[in-house]
Amino acid sequence: MDTVKSALQAVHARIAKAILAAGRAPGCVELLAVSKTFPVAAITTAAHAGQRAFGESYVQEALPKLAALRDLSLTWHFIGPLQRNKTQAVAQHFDWVHSVDRPLIAQRLNDARPPDMPALNVCLQVNISDETSKSGVAPANLPALAQAVATLPRLRLRGLMAIPQGGTDSAIQHAQFARLHALQTELIDQGFALDTLSMGMSDDLEIAIAEGSTLVRVGSALFGTRPSSTH
Ligand SMILES: *Cc1c(COP(=O)(O)O)cnc(C)c1O
Repeated sequence: MDTVKSALQAVHARIAKAILAAGRAPGCVELLAVSKTFPVAAITTAAHAGQRAFGESYVQEALPKLAALRDLSLTWHFIGPLQRNKTQAVAQHFDWVHSVDRPLIAQRLNDARPPDMPALNVCLQVNISDETSKSGVAPANLPALAQAVATLPRLRLRGLMAIPQGGTDSAIQHAQFARLHALQTELIDQGFALDTLSMGMSDDLEIAIAEGSTLVRVGSALFGTRPSSTH
């Protein structure tokens, strides 16, 4: 488990270097450790090395892990596809959701958020690659969704999230991240108080940081390769 600790240091170094290269303020990018498919022991090791924020994609897998790690008071982000029958569990157990892409899901999260918990932090997932099969709200429908979420008292709209598609052409990656940043800026100009741009993963975090990311979601660079057949 020493490998998790040194991987954490290496990812922090990559983030710091990318921030410097982009001429941005030190500390302006948060690291979300994506622990889906990895065991409680790996999360514990990362937590003891100082990591506080963790991301999970599958409700069924996540709930026992959250329960086992309750005493560490970590921050949990749900980043996976969100079906309507999973909204209650997510609203009851997570601090953040990055994958809200339609009003019905937002309404259900709001209604299920327990009154004794703080409002659930929400990022809207945007489809920036125009592939009809991918999840995420279409950019044309984004302002209406932001408006709908902003009116829900148990949700706190924080920003936007995207998973770019289309391979490893860095010019295309830059363009997709820049597009998400521009959409965020448009919403801010319309009066939404957004502070989070959730973009960048193990393979493209430098490009995302160059384009304004404030939160990178990193899994394999911290914990190792996931079995690709299942996830
Ligand atoms: C799995 C996942 C990640 C982490 O991907 P890595 O390439 O392992 O860093 C980030 N974001 C989302 C939405 C994911 O599902």
